[in-house]
Amino acid sequence: MTAWDALAARRTGVPVFEPGHVWLAGAGPGDPGLLTLDALAGLTQADVIVHDALVDARVLALAGPQARLEFAGKRGGKPSATQADISERLIALARAGERVLRLKGGDPFVFGRGGEEAMALAAAGIAFRVIPGVTAGLAALAAAGIPATLRGVNRAVVFAAGHGADEDFDWTPLVRTGQPIVLYMVMHNLERITAALLRAGLRADMPSAIIAAATTPAQRIVVSTLEKLSAAAREQHIEPPAIVVIGEIVNIRALLTAETRREEGC
Ligand code: SAH
Repeated sequence: MTAWDALAARRTGVPVFEPGHVWLAGAGPGDPGLLTLDALAGLTQADVIVHDALVDARVLALAGPQARLEFAGKRGGKPSATQADISERLIALARAGERVLRLKGGDPFVFGRGGEEAMALAAAGIAFRVIPGVTAGLAALAAAGIPATLRGVNRAVVFAAGHGADEDFDWTPLVRTGQPIVLYMVMHNLERITAALLRAGLRADMPSAIIAAATTPAQRIVVSTLEKLSAAAREQHIEPPAIVVIGEIVNIRALLTAETRREEGC
């Protein structure tokens, strides 16, 4: 018996996956230890798992032996299924009587287009459940020793998407809140967005960090200032997926990692 089996055997009220139902679940940022027990229940019972590129192979390895894996999403700039195609596929599989696990990186409703899929399922009259996941913005901060909130430092956190920088997005109201900003999907536009944040009034020396491939063996962390962040990313060849965090909370990392080092006796 594996540790998972032992744990599952002790849990009461495990949701039962009915044929013809869709579970729209978050797979977390990478580390399978960050899956919810409900997502794990979905992985073990599903007939078919429709996943995107951000779902870690270690998570997919937990699928039951009966499960078929289907990839749906963007991968390395290749033409990808449109959102409408994916929703149609989920509906068709459910109508064929399959137990369909739609697995998305992080949380399905945080920059994951899960809301669109849920709406399509609702409109088609397909029974579905939504299982939240640990979103990359929070997992990456934790992995880097950066508290999302700290009393006396901040009382709110802004989560924002960095893609679509060509759109006329006004960062000024976000900057005016004085609260840290956590950016998803920003690496291709990092230079433009950091410049826009500086124009919007953020301090050039505001502590900033990039956490790439958080909670995976490829995790990398870069700590810098807002002004120097995009140059640091370039110099150190930091690739997506990555989270960028800008704000005083980044300074806490030095204290926490120093503390950890003490505990480890180095
Ligand atoms: N639904 C996901 C976000 C999807 S948008 C969630 O809640 O986490 C895709 C973006 O998520 C990436 O561009 C990157 O900014 C972030 N991301 C996802 N996984 C990540 C990881 N392991 N490390 C760092 N960033 C990650």
